[in-house]
Order: sequence, then structure tokens, then C-alpha cells
Amino acid sequence: MHADQCVLSLKVDVDTYRGMEAGVPALIRILARRRVRAAFFIAMGPDNSGRAVIRFFTKRGFLKKMLRSNAAGMYGIRTALSGTLLPARQIARSFPGRFRALLDGGHEVGVHGYDHVRWHDGIPRMGPEETREEFGRACRLFREIAGGEPACSAAPGWACSPRQLAVQDETRMRYHSDTRGAEPFLPVMDGYRAAHLQVPTTLPTLDELLGSGACRDAGDLLRYYAGAIGRPGTHVLTVHAEAEGMGWAGWFEALLDDLASRGVRLATMREIAEEALAVPDRIPRREIRMAEIPGRAGPVAVDAASMERLRAAPTTRICR
Ligand SMILES: [Zn+2]
Repeated sequence: MHADQCVLSLKVDVDTYRGMEAGVPALIRILARRRVRAAFFIAMGPDNSGRAVIRFFTKRGFLKKMLRSNAAGMYGIRTALSGTLLPARQIARSFPGRFRALLDGGHEVGVHGYDHVRWHDGIPRMGPEETREEFGRACRLFREIAGGEPACSAAPGWACSPRQLAVQDETRMRYHSDTRGAEPFLPVMDGYRAAHLQVPTTLPTLDELLGSGACRDAGDLLRYYAGAIGRPGTHVLTVHAEAEGMGWAGWFEALLDDLASRGVRLATMREIAEEALAVPDRIPRREIRMAEIPGRAGPVAVDAASMERLRAAPTTRICR
């Protein structure tokens, strides 16, 4: 990819049953209409989203962020209670046809953990065996449903540990997208030097821009992304099946059309990964750390070299 080009890669996280049921088909249609391909990362196991609601009471600032980003409206009450008052529904197993539909649409499909909530809350404290079991469960289910090995994975909630990086290195996957950063890199975490490539998310998500107060509405968000993605470079945007595939679908279509009119080129995560892997000596080695970023409750894995930029408040100057 040329340094003076604006390139965007779309990473779609599917965190819930509703996201898989309604968000994924909508995104397939939206992307097909524009001949755009994306990488979909699916939380393979049970939808325990309701347990995340418990964070209402355990984490300061979570409720405020939930309300500001209208997460309850975004996710719906069934999802908000899933795995607590109502039984957890299986996300991947309930919709085996979605995998075929995604692959037929030319999209890449990878794993986004087994139990999204357990990973997000627990992975930093899990030992090697528990980590291997959690990651292995997602991969086994993927194999069973998709009929092949997953080639990529993305950590739920960008929650990372050195044990998890080591478990990923035991697989034959091509790359992982567990982190926030500026460009593909090889991670070091707490002294563990990982062998597998990271293709990080480079941009703040929609809910972070709303949650931090940087953007107030759909117009602000369009202006923010047009400004950020309009800068030369390779950008990776994480969208959610539950947001950009549901309540924000119309907005997402407007964003894609706006970016196309500005000459932004779309590339897949796989293309970005393979381009980096083609010249292994040039892949930078970077330290990753768990750190808080604006608009997100709880820490995420951040490339330390990008720490200052990612922890700074998003440039509202562009928004307003
Ligand atoms: Zn997720």
C-alpha cells in the first residue's frame, strides 16, 4: 500500500446472538451493494451479555458511558438479560448458515473468543491451561461449523495476556487483531515475544466517540471519520454487527458512500497482514500494555508506541 494513499480496512465484531441474527445479514447486504469485503470476528459460544450488565454496579463510569452511547437501545433488552435472567443463547451454533453466507460474500471469518464476557473480564487473570481451553473451544467450534481452520482471531474487548499470545502462537493462524495501534507489528507483552502478527485497530469505535463525548450525533461521527480516514495511511476501523449492522446501519451506509466519494480505497485485513508478512524484517517489534482509552470502560491492549495518541481525547476539532 502506498504511503500517500488513504486505505481503510473493516473489522466487524459480532458479540451477540442478535448481532449474528440480524446485524450480520444486514452488513452482508450493505457491503455487497458496494463490493466491499470485510473481516468478521465472531464470538463463537454462548451470549452471556447480561453478565456485562453486572458491570453497571461494579464499574464506575460504565453506566454513564452506556447511557451516552445508548448501548441499551443498541443492544436491546433480550441481549441485556442474556445469560442472567434469561438463558444464554448459542451465537455460532444457532446460525451455521451465516458462515457460508459470509464466505460466499468473499469475507474473511475469524474467531472472537468463545464466551465474549468471560474473555473480556477474565483473560488477563487466566492461567495458561484455562487460556488454552477458552481459545481452543472457540477454534474447535469454528472448525466444526465452518469446516476449516480459522486463519485469524480478535480478542473480545481488546483484552490481552501474554498467555493468550503464546496460545495463539501454537496455532497456524496468519494474524490476530487483539490490539490498538498504528500499523501491523509483532507484540511483546510482559516479556513474552509473540511470533504472530498483530494487525491493530487504528481508529476509535463509534461507541467510543459517543461515549467520550467527542461526537454528539451522526453528523459529528461522519465528519470525524472523514477527517481521520482522509489522512494518508492504512486505517483499520472496528464496527459492531450490533451497531453498524442494526440501529446505525443507515449511518454506516452513508459513511461508506462518503469515503468512496473521497477516493478512500478499501483493503481487507488479510491483504494488510500478507503485505506486512511479505517483508518480515520490516515488521516492527512493539511492547503492548493494557491501558484505558477515552470512551471505553476498562483497559484495552495498546501498542505502547501509540499510547500517547490513543489515550488523548479524540480530536473534537474535526468533529465540530
Ligand atoms: Zn467484541
